[in-house]
Amino acid sequence: MGMTAHARTEIVVLGGGYAGLAAALRLAPQHRVTLVEPRERFVERVRLHQVAAGQAGAVHPYEKILAGTGIRHVTGRAARLDTAGGRVEVETNDGQHLDLGYDRLVYALGSRTKVPALVPATAGTGTTRVYSAETAADLATRMAGRSGKRNGRLAVVGGGLTGIEMATELGEAHPDCEIRLLTAGSLAATLSEPARRHLRSTLDRLGVRVQEDAPVEDPDEVDADAVLWSAAMTPTTGLAAEAGLALDEHGRVRVDAALRSVSHPEIVVAGDAGAGWRMACATAMPTGAHAAGTILQEARGAAAPPFRLKYVLVCMSLGRSDGLVQVLHTDDRPRDLVLTGRPAAWVKERIVSSTIGLLSYAARHPAALRTLLF
Ligand SMILES: Cc1cc2nc3c(=O)[nH]c(=O)nc-3n(C[C@H](O)[C@H](O)[C@H](O)COP(=O)(O)OP(=O)(O)OC[C@H]3O[C@@H](n4cnc5c(N)ncnc54)[C@H](O)[C@@H]3O)c2cc1C
Repeated sequence: MGMTAHARTEIVVLGGGYAGLAAALRLAPQHRVTLVEPRERFVERVRLHQVAAGQAGAVHPYEKILAGTGIRHVTGRAARLDTAGGRVEVETNDGQHLDLGYDRLVYALGSRTKVPALVPATAGTGTTRVYSAETAADLATRMAGRSGKRNGRLAVVGGGLTGIEMATELGEAHPDCEIRLLTAGSLAATLSEPARRHLRSTLDRLGVRVQEDAPVEDPDEVDADAVLWSAAMTPTTGLAAEAGLALDEHGRVRVDAALRSVSHPEIVVAGDAGAGWRMACATAMPTGAHAAGTILQEARGAAAPPFRLKYVLVCMSLGRSDGLVQVLHTDDRPRDLVLTGRPAAWVKERIVSSTIGLLSYAARHPAALRTLLF
């Protein structure tokens, strides 16, 4: 394993979400890149509340996005990381075991809903009445074709931004259904009072009943026909932990200023799996682009610059015709300045569609990803 300056480097990117895809696309023109991702199609995870409400169109075949980039897509799961040997063991979707060697590794395995035991973790396994963003399509199937009282009672657990997006989208799609939003503390505690006022009135308008200070430990405690668990996210860092990478107290991989693992600097980390930033698509793409930049610079024998990111807005959709744009102070605190209603829904939709738009454009013009960096 070596980081030879000016040579083409063998790079393995683990995870083809927003972070891994951004990194792979930026690296591809100059290095040999293998993307390990079990899915055949890129899932727009920021639209999973729309999927839960039965809307289609949040997936894009990797084959199409990666066409002409030279990136090799291995459809399988990274199963083990041998950092001493610079190798990743992959279990391919067709049951083979592959051993991939790397000079540099991009760890971008993201996160998933932190579900209590017994909640199905992946789509198609939904045999219970409990769902999460990962099984959004199963919830849509359950809700489809039901009407009136037969739609029953749905409880969304989690009063953060994802839970609210879920509850409003479902409230709009299923006006006959009785929907409750349960949250341990206050609704959208990180946002300003004007923002929270708008969220409350929107939830009220859509018939979603909000119960604050209502902590739920276990979905079995909830009196409802179906429960959508949206309480917290957990990073996908089991592989990193087993390989001995240093993690923070939340189980996210600790990185230095250039996004290298502090314990294994040949590994760069991007997106929800890394520590030091918000778990957000808004961070995943810039960290992916920057992590790639670190590898590019070091392959040239140059020092990698530090990663910097300032958030300026938080954007939410509240169904298809309402939204919220919360303006932030430079230190990340919410200002009392918000945009609501249709203009906010429009802004949010433009931002969401520009993410996949930028990734698709970057497949042909990788330099475009530099626009994500400050
Ligand atoms: C309903 C919902 C709405 C959201 N809305 C917003 C929003 O409006 N704005 C915002 O900024 N963020 C939003 N988020 C958060 C955002 O989706 C995540 O922060 C973002 O997807 C993180 O990107 P990532 O690339 O780090 O990881 P992920 O998107 O989690 O991608 C990780 C990839 O790794 C793959 N993978 C997992 N395990 C393995 C393995 N062993 N081997 C190989 N591949 C593997 C997965 O299949 C996946 O494709 C939302 C999330 C949800 C659920």
